[in-house]
Amino acid sequence: WEARSLPDCLFCKIVEGTIPARKVFEDESVVAFHDIQPQAPVHLLVIPKKHIATMNDCEADDSALLGHTLLVAQRIAKEAGLAESGYRLVNNCGSDAGQVVFHLHWHILGGEKLAALNP
Ligand code: 5GP
Ligand code: ZN
Repeated sequence: WEARSLPDCLFCKIVEGTIPARKVFEDESVVAFHDIQPQAPVHLLVIPKKHIATMNDCEADDSALLGHTLLVAQRIAKEAGLAESGYRLVNNCGSDAGQVVFHLHWHILGGEKLAALNP
């Protein structure tokens, strides 16, 4: 994978291993690890190793990487035992969504009945 990391990016540091994380998956282009402040019994984060700040910053060249990241999310959710019970895959993009880490990531949330988005 292309080493394009930002020195001040938290998730780039997790990719590089300079900040520890409880990793559950890693390959040449994607890493997944436990969220440090879980919002559900299972709360994992799946990220491309390449630094992309938000969904807004994805380009056509990233399509294979994005597809692969989502398939890794599916695989990790299955490995966490969520395939049958279900899970939520969330991307927060920008301030109205509450994005706080500006390195593209998806949350995998599950292990309980999650609050409805449209109650
Ligand atoms: P966002 O709001 O940007 O979509 O979510 C960022 C997530 O990263 C939050 O759920 C937060 O708990 C998690 N997070 C923040 N700092 C760390 C960290 O140092 N390690 C891990 N594993 N997760 C973190
Ligand atoms: Zn980054």
